[in-house]
Formats: sequence, C-alpha cells, structure tokens
Amino acid sequence: MAGIDAVVTGAGGFIGGHLTRALLAEGKSVRAVDRKPVEEWYQIHDDAVNTVRDLSLRDACVQVLDGGAGEVYHLAADMGGMGFIESHKAACMLSVLSSTHMLLAARDSGVGRYFYSSSACVYAADKQTDADVTALREEDAYPAMAEDGYGWEKLFSERMARHFREDYGLAARAARYHNVYGPYGTWTGGREKAPAAACRKVAAAVLSGAREVEIWGDGEQTRSFTYIDDCVEGTLRLARSEVTEPLNVGSDQLVSINQLYAIVEQIAGVELSHRHIPGPLGVRGRNSDNTRIYKELGWQPGISLLEGLEPTYRWVYDQLKAQLDGRPHQV
Ligand code: NAD
Repeated sequence: MAGIDAVVTGAGGFIGGHLTRALLAEGKSVRAVDRKPVEEWYQIHDDAVNTVRDLSLRDACVQVLDGGAGEVYHLAADMGGMGFIESHKAACMLSVLSSTHMLLAARDSGVGRYFYSSSACVYAADKQTDADVTALREEDAYPAMAEDGYGWEKLFSERMARHFREDYGLAARAARYHNVYGPYGTWTGGREKAPAAACRKVAAAVLSGAREVEIWGDGEQTRSFTYIDDCVEGTLRLARSEVTEPLNVGSDQLVSINQLYAIVEQIAGVELSHRHIPGPLGVRGRNSDNTRIYKELGWQPGISLLEGLEPTYRWVYDQLKAQLDGRPHQV
C-alpha cells in the first residue's frame, strides 16, 4: 500500500486547504486534489502534489488513489450557505458521484483510513424547529428527514461509507461538521455562510461609513459555529481513532444570528443597526451535542466565537479592502 501518506479531496476549498497544511506540517506527503484550476485554490501549498481532477468521474478517482494511500480525506462536494443549498438541491445531490467513486477507488486501491466529511444538515428538520434548541445528538439523524438536497446526499454518503466498512473492510470514519468558519474560506459570491457574510457586511459598513447591515429573517434563528482549527483537529483525531460511527465535530456555543453580528461589530469597533429582510433561513435552531465526541476522544471543540472571529474578521476585511482597491484577493 501507500506511495503517498495522505490524499485530500476538495483541497482547493476552505477546509481542505487548512487540512492539507496541517498534514504537511506533520511531515506527511500529501496529494491535494480539486476540480478548480490551481490558481483558484484558496490556499496553494507548494509542498503538496497539487492535482486537478473532477472526482465525479470514476477514472479520476482511480488515478488519484493509484498506488494506494495511508489516509484519504474526502472533502470534495458542492456546498455553500443556506442561500446556495436551498436553491441548488440537484447540484448538491450530484456530489454523490464523487462520494461513490472515491469509495470504490479506495476499496480497490488499498487505503489505510478513509475519512468522509458529513454535515449537521443530516439531522431531522423536526428536531430543529425551536431557536431554544436541544443540542443534536448523533442518534437524532434517524428516523431520517435531512435538509432537502444537500443533507440527504450527506446522509446517504456517510451511510454508504459505513457499509463499505462493514462489507469490504474499508476503515471508514465520518464527522458531521457544524458550520465551520475561519480565514481562507468562502466570503463572497453567494456560497458564503453566516460568519463570513457577517464579517463582510460589517467590514463593508466600516469601509463605506454605512450605519446599517441587512440580516436575513428576524435574526433570532440560532446556530453554533466551529472555528477551522477545531475542525481540522477533530478531523485528524477522528480519522485516526477507532470510532466507526459518525461523530459531531462542532462547537456547542449557541448564539443567535443577531448575537453573531454583535460579536463581529464588537471586534470591528462599530455599532450598527440591523435591517431584517426576507431570505433563506434554514432550520430555526441548531447546536452540537458533544457528549459522545468527548466520551470517545476525550476532546471537543473549544475555541470561542470571539477568539475565532477575530482572525476571520481581519482576513475578510483585508480581502474586501483589496477588492475595493483593485488589488489581488481571494474570490
Ligand atoms: P468548499 O466549497 O470551500 O470546498 C469544497 C471543494 O470541493 C471546492 O474547492 C470544490 O471545487 C471541490 N469539489 C467539488 N466537487 C468536486 C469534484 N467533483 N471533484 C473535485 N473537487 C470538487 O467547502 P468546505 O467548506 O471546505 O467543505 C468541505 C467539506 O466539508 C464538504 O464536503 C462539505 O460538505 C463539508 N461540510 C462543510 C461545512 C462548513 O461549514 N464549511 C459544514 C458541514 C460539512
């Protein structure tokens, strides 16, 4: 087995770029794969074997795992914030092609560990109707009523990974990420999630002198947000553990969207008025129950929203300023 230590798919995206960096820092050899041209990757790590392939095609999956791999981290997927996934259900479900073909290639090429990035969107919507939520436990995914489109694909693919473990002996692991944010993430263009959108809107107000930001809905919908460093650490711990059931990898610090904006404004040193407008909202409330991950791994995400939003806001502010000044920036 294993010419290469690790293969990361979706490496041109947000989490994949950070995960590739962490694996390289451990001294691992890494093949980083994405379908976007390398110049569009959010982070380009010259030490990795950067490979452009569309993994919806089976041949591409066979090629990137040719010779086997110690660890495979399958993160490639079509995704975005609520504004994207509520209006691109078919595109999100088509990620099943890369999930399927990567599993088949992993089974046939011999890999040590196979990690799949699932999502809190697998959880049943009827458990998330109240802003004052009961945090989601792993067993709440069934009976299934996942987020339409994106969530169903995630649930199907994590279940397929489970059956590849049971039937073919593939050492598959899965995490259910809860709303991950941080620098080098999507911050504009319609696929960004709430923390990046909040940072961009507040930075735009600071730079233009505006006194108001627009927020979708009444802003009382609640979420927890996970800083990227916690996400990467949870991914590595879980992938290398003996825990075979999917685990939440998410912060359990619950805030409303209005509170999220208040924290960003505190970091930016401004106080803005909030104009509430209609928009895609997703579930009313969602939080991560971390009882199981703590029991299994003796660890849980611990970086507070204030700590994580500081570097995120500074980074988004710099990107927006560079864009306004006509300088190079991440799009
Ligand atoms: P991202 O959009 O920044 O990165 C995903 C990358 O996958 C993109 O660069 C895209 O080009 C690539 N990709 C998509 N289809 C591909 C294909 N067929 N072949 C090759 N590359 C392809 O997303 P992210 O935030 O880094 O998310 C990574 C993973 O984590 C995804 O599977 C996502 O569903 C999951 N997830 C993320 C979050 C979050 O909050 N960011 C929450 C839950 C789950």
